[in-house]
Amino acid sequence: MLVRVDFNVPLDEDFNIIDDSRIKAALPTLNKLIQDKAKIILMSHLGRPKGVESKFSLSHIVDYLRSILEVNVSFSENCIGEKVMNSIKDLKNGEVLLLENLRFHKEEKSGDYNFAKQLSNLADVYVNDAFGAAHRSHASTSIIAQFFPKEKYFGLLLKNEVESLEKALNSPKKPFTAIIGGSKISGKIDVITSLLDKVDNLIIGGGMAYTFAKAMGGNIGNSLIELDKIDLAKSIINKVKNKDVKLLLPIDSVNASVFSNDSSVCFSKITDVQDGYMGLDIGEESTRLFSEVIERSKTIIWNGPMGVFEMSNFEKGTKKIGESICKSTKNGAFSLVGGGDSVAAIKKFGMQNQVSYISTGGGAMLEYLEGKDLPGVKAIIN
Ligand code: AMP
Repeated sequence: MLVRVDFNVPLDEDFNIIDDSRIKAALPTLNKLIQDKAKIILMSHLGRPKGVESKFSLSHIVDYLRSILEVNVSFSENCIGEKVMNSIKDLKNGEVLLLENLRFHKEEKSGDYNFAKQLSNLADVYVNDAFGAAHRSHASTSIIAQFFPKEKYFGLLLKNEVESLEKALNSPKKPFTAIIGGSKISGKIDVITSLLDKVDNLIIGGGMAYTFAKAMGGNIGNSLIELDKIDLAKSIINKVKNKDVKLLLPIDSVNASVFSNDSSVCFSKITDVQDGYMGLDIGEESTRLFSEVIERSKTIIWNGPMGVFEMSNFEKGTKKIGESICKSTKNGAFSLVGGGDSVAAIKKFGMQNQVSYISTGGGAMLEYLEGKDLPGVKAIIN
């Protein structure tokens, strides 16, 4: 059984795993296959290697896998070729063989047909459990599926991810609120536009809010700005006037003279940031306004922090929004959090068990919310 997992975990300088969430997320599928006594061949990518680079070798995670799976885990130094075939011959039922980083072959990212075919020769059954890579049309995530016309399946994680997103998008309990933050509009414009047709409230915070403030004629000092997105921000503000959706932008801002936690801090309206200062968090009035809406919501999607939550002086907005999401969840709302930075924030504030679902895929989640077909999902269904 050939299982595509997303073991793209961050490693420190000594190759210790800094955050094992992605591996943990694959455990339901892996434990089920171990229980069922399958011969499990795992394939994944790690980082962005340019050819073979030992620092991106998946061998760094083998010991950890052994300890967490509590079965025999062997490692193959290549993901295709004769040696892998020999390793597979030695594989016993209920054991695991981890293949070397797929991206050591450029054919993985280019979605090469022959490379996918070679991978497919390793097993009779294909399982895709890599939601984090499902928006990519890579050899191991989508091209490969055609070689398993009958025996191709979703892993439990991928299934769960898709079902959670479907639950939010297709049968949301109302009011439905989306919270979009982070640094830039550019990466999230498609999701913002598409959510305008689906949600009751769209809350925008983080660095991208300052481009909206500028579009409203405000003074934003040295805050993040995307000059080429000002017209777009204006058009979004105008568009919502004819729609049944409420666009909530921050009213006030927490500002610093330099991008540092040691900077002097001052407060202002978001449209009146002092010259020489930059806005790094939403202010108290905005937090109150956003929290009220979130706490009344029955379905909540969150992607992107409200400020520079990595610095303690600018974490309050993100933390308060997180608290309101947890409160709402406790009162029965369905909450879905995704995107590397919002998940990092949720973890920083110890809230990971107080939301309904944490998605393992930032990009994949955004594309799903945009209404796009994910190649990794489509390949299994078709
Ligand atoms: P993204 O990758 O676009 O989701 O952006 C996440 C990053 O945006 C985080 O590292 C935050 O520190 C950063 N961020 C949030 N708000 C601001 C802001 N007002 N100014 C600068 N960076 C911000």
